[in-house]
Amino acid sequence: MEITSRDTMGEMDVNLFPEDRLPVRDFGIRARRALTELRIIDGYYEEEEDLLAAGPNSLKAFPGDADYMVGFEYCSVYDFENADLVPGMPALEPRCPHCDADIDETYYSTLDESGLYELPRGRADFMKIQFICPVCERDIRLPELESNSGLLLLKQHIDFHQVVDYIKPAWVDRIARRMGCRLAIRSYGYT
Ligand SMILES: [Zn+2]
Repeated sequence: MEITSRDTMGEMDVNLFPEDRLPVRDFGIRARRALTELRIIDGYYEEEEDLLAAGPNSLKAFPGDADYMVGFEYCSVYDFENADLVPGMPALEPRCPHCDADIDETYYSTLDESGLYELPRGRADFMKIQFICPVCERDIRLPELESNSGLLLLKQHIDFHQVVDYIKPAWVDRIARRMGCRLAIRSYGYT
């Protein structure tokens, strides 16, 4: 199948995550099986990094306009003891939970310098990240940004990277039914 080139893909990621946590590894197995059976994914996009390719029904789940061949660039399933930081790309403009200052620069440079993105998936412990607000100089940890800045620390999630449109709720229901769990949705646009 021909894959639409990267620069014409969407500028948004869609994340699905279980409302109640499943046993580790069980989530990943169920997610891959459900997505494969529904033909939303089809084999690997890149095997070494465990990235999954869009399948023939990807455009039904993400019904972008007719120019697209697939509904997203690739999909990845995360299922580890360490929480992953979502979104995994610059999509937030975080604010200090104490003084509400714009902490964009400090936030992204702390993540860049943490070295966590160089670790194999599942090894990075984002809970450990801590930095100081440049304005009020109080400590900030990532969980404190979940409620005011939209980030999520998730041990289990499905990420659809560079989707061409929002996911259809009916397809989320289908995935959830096959997985036997309830799924929440979060969409992130690139800033
Ligand atoms: Zn502050």
